[in-house]
Formats: sequence, structure tokens, C-alpha cells
Amino acid sequence: ETIQVDELAKRMGVKVSDVIMKLMSLGVMATANQSIDYDVAAIVASEYGFEVEKKAVAEDLVQVSEEEEDEANLEPRPPVVTVMGHVDHGKTTLLDAIRHADVASKEAGGITQHIGAYQVTLPSGNTVVFLDTPGHEAFTQMRARGAQVTDIVVLVVAADDGVMAQTREAIDHAKAAGVPIIVAVNKIDKPEANPDRVKTELSELGLVPEEWGGDTIFVEVSAKKKIGIEDFLELLALQAEVMELKANPNRPARGHVIEARLDKGRGPVATLLVSKGTLHKGDAIVCGLHYGKVRAMINDRGKRIDEAGPSTPVEVQGLSGVPEPGAEFVVLPDEKKAREVAEYRQRKQREAELVKSQKMSLETMFQRLQEQEVKELNIVLKTDVQGSLEAMSDALRKLSTHDVKINLVRTGIGAISESDVLLASASDAIIVGFNVRPNAQAKALAEQEKVDIRFYDVIYHAIEEIKQAMVGLLEPEY
Ligand code: GDP
Repeated sequence: ETIQVDELAKRMGVKVSDVIMKLMSLGVMATANQSIDYDVAAIVASEYGFEVEKKAVAEDLVQVSEEEEDEANLEPRPPVVTVMGHVDHGKTTLLDAIRHADVASKEAGGITQHIGAYQVTLPSGNTVVFLDTPGHEAFTQMRARGAQVTDIVVLVVAADDGVMAQTREAIDHAKAAGVPIIVAVNKIDKPEANPDRVKTELSELGLVPEEWGGDTIFVEVSAKKKIGIEDFLELLALQAEVMELKANPNRPARGHVIEARLDKGRGPVATLLVSKGTLHKGDAIVCGLHYGKVRAMINDRGKRIDEAGPSTPVEVQGLSGVPEPGAEFVVLPDEKKAREVAEYRQRKQREAELVKSQKMSLETMFQRLQEQEVKELNIVLKTDVQGSLEAMSDALRKLSTHDVKINLVRTGIGAISESDVLLASASDAIIVGFNVRPNAQAKALAEQEKVDIRFYDVIYHAIEEIKQAMVGLLEPEY
């Protein structure tokens, strides 16, 4: 549960600026219209002799905890596969060949859409889902965000090239994730192909073929000539069967974002992969930092659908923003709840960033209070390089006079960020940018917080203008 700073001040009958100062002394930088955590609010309130009552347990809401699944409700689900391997060993070509092997699309005569993942139906009736982005980078990025989407890794090794650097990397990543590997020995159509060499090299890395007494499935294919693709797919399905992959389709859906983008006409569009439950058109979801109602769902054949079960990739519209790949989505009872959770997460994230960014300003802020008889001009200074930072800092400090003190609340190199704006807002500072610009979010925040940003590319001009401002700060003399 959180409360806005001005609301807290109002309820206690205390000046907002006092509350902001108190917060700073606690190491929390927040402006009047930002929200603070229950714990922080409680500490501030206690200093004024108030007690804060907790209204709702927000953590419950945010965790959207995963409840135990009754074994009886589980049904088999298709495996989700990621293709990895060294560059040029044929990952993309293999993904294309697999797409062509899809019986369902042949029947429908449909062209598969690139939505980030696709489902393939085999002649045996089995289904396998492939993620469209090959390689271990995407795989690991998702995993870094806590999303374990892949059930099986297909390791592509060109029979004419053998094990290479990224082959080894792929093995490491798959092993780290605890995901079983199936080896596709590719390019066997080439005269110089030597599948046995691949087997020997991989055996040395712990991937021993079944026919050599190991437990790794090896399949020889030519992605280009489409040789061995169907056998390979059936072996994949077989491996999946051994794994007994299951999910309960009859529950509110949850799963992960495979990819997402902003579409000019349709707004935020995200490909979601359902891991359990069934996603319905009209469902309210929270998805990372965003929320929404599933307005439309499109499957990997570009067809509009109304529901998507476990291991089904779907492109959805209706989210409030573009989520990150790997973010989890969860269906909630209604949009209001989804919005609450998303907003809570956004606040959390902003606060985490704020805490990261502040720290240095505290002493200066208090010093400022103690020297209240002196008029001050607070400045956040950002420049392009160290040289200009030193030159500008020196020149600005030298402008301090007996009556007006120049106070550099922060100096730094690089673009003007949101945290610079927040700091300036909290300390009534102006921002001076020398050969730097704000990023889009910082610019928007500056407008919202009414923070003055001034840009210069000549030191002399900066000094002149700030001198003028200082004159304006002086009491008129009579
Ligand atoms: P990726 O970098 O792993 O995605 O590799 P690509 O799929 O882009 O393939 C690299 C090159 O190898 C391309 O020129 C493909 O046409 C070729 N290639 C892929 N599979 C085969 C194959 O089975 N046989 C032959 N001869 N060439 C292949």
C-alpha cells in the first residue's frame, strides 16, 4: 500500500515541503505528487506523532501468487523449443523448413505470420511450438528476467564445420537452464559433411549419442534440402512425451511475453505464450509494468481467435504499454485490479530508481537549510565531457557572492535524466545542460514538475545568463 506525499502531509496537517525534507533525511527522494511505501509513510508519520493504518496488503496483490495445481487437472501440452547453434550453421533455414512441414498450414493454405513463435502440427497429430528468435542471447535474456519458457533446446551443428565457439556457448546456456538438448546435425547434403566428427566432438562435451550408449538424441538433417525434417520433428515430440509436459487448461491464464512492439495503428502489440490456463478475448491481464484487456487475439497464422490454451503463442492488443520480452502476464478478475497491480509495480520501479539516484544531495540540502539567511541558486549541472564539467563547475562556483550562493546540487556527465529532473524539482534547482540534452522521459517530467532546463554550448553565455539570474535574486536596493 502506498500514499502520495501531499496526501500524507494533508492528512497530518503538515506542510508538504516538511514531509519532503523528512523523506530526504530518510534517504527517500520524492516530490509532492509521488507515492511512498507504507513503511516509509509510517516512519514519517511517527515523527509527527501519527500512526499509519495499513488498508490493503499490497504484496498479495503484486505477487499474484501461483497456487498449487491439482494433478487431476493437468493435461498434456506441446513442448516449446528454442533453436541454438553457431552462426551460419543453419538455424534460420531450419526454422523455415520446420514451418513448411506444418500440416495444419498446408491444409489451410495459410501463410504463417511472424509473431515471434509458431506452432507446428505433425502428421502424427503431435504439436510442437518453436520460438522464432534463434540463438542463446534471447534465451538467456528471457531467463535473466525469470522466464523459463523453453522446454527443449535444439542444437544445430553444421556437419561440414563441427563444434564451434557458439556451439559450446549454447550448450552451456542450455545446461545452466537445465533444459534437455536435441542435436540437429545439419547440412548433411554437403559432400564434405562429416556427421561422425560432430558426434565425436559433442561426446567430448558430454552430449553422447544414443547409438554410442549415451542419452542424447542426434538427428541428421538438411535444412536447405528439407531432408530428415519430419523425422526430426517426431523425435522432438517423442522427447516431449518422455518429459510429460502438462498444464491445467481450465484456469485463468498466465505465461510470458515473447516479443512486443508499438504498432502505429494498433498500439502496443505483444506476443504472449500461454504456459497454463486459457487466455480469452476480453480477459483483464497485468503484463510486467502494464495492464489491459485483451481486445483482439491473432494466432501464428494471422487468424483472429477467441481463446488460447497452454503452449499457444498469440499476438494480443489492448495493453497500456509495451512490455519487455520475458515479462510475465497473469489474468486477473477485472481490469481495475490489473491496473492497480501495474501501477503499484510502476511506482515500485520508480522508487527503486530514485533511491539509486539520490544520496549525494542530502548534506547539501541540509546545509542549505542552515544557511537560510543566504540566498541560493541551486543548480544541477550536466555536461558532455569531464573537461567541460570541471570548467563549468569552477566558473559557476566562482560566481558565488556574499549575498547569493551558487550551489551545485549535482554535477555529472551525460544526458539529462529523469533523476536529474527529480533532484532539481526536490531542491528547487535549475538544470544547466552544457552540450547535452534531456532524454524524452526527462523532458516530459521537467514539463510536469516545472523544472527549468537551460542549454548552453558556450561557457561564457552560461556564465552571463546565470549572473543575470543572480541579480534577479538580489533584494532590490534603494
Ligand atoms: P544461421 O546463422 O544459423 O541462422 O544460419 P542460416 O540458416 O542463415 O544458414 C547459413 C547458410 O547455410 C545459408 O547460406 C544457408 O542457405 C546455408 N544452409 C543452411 N542449411 C543448410 C543445409 O542443410 N545444407 C546446405 N548446403 N546449406 C545450408
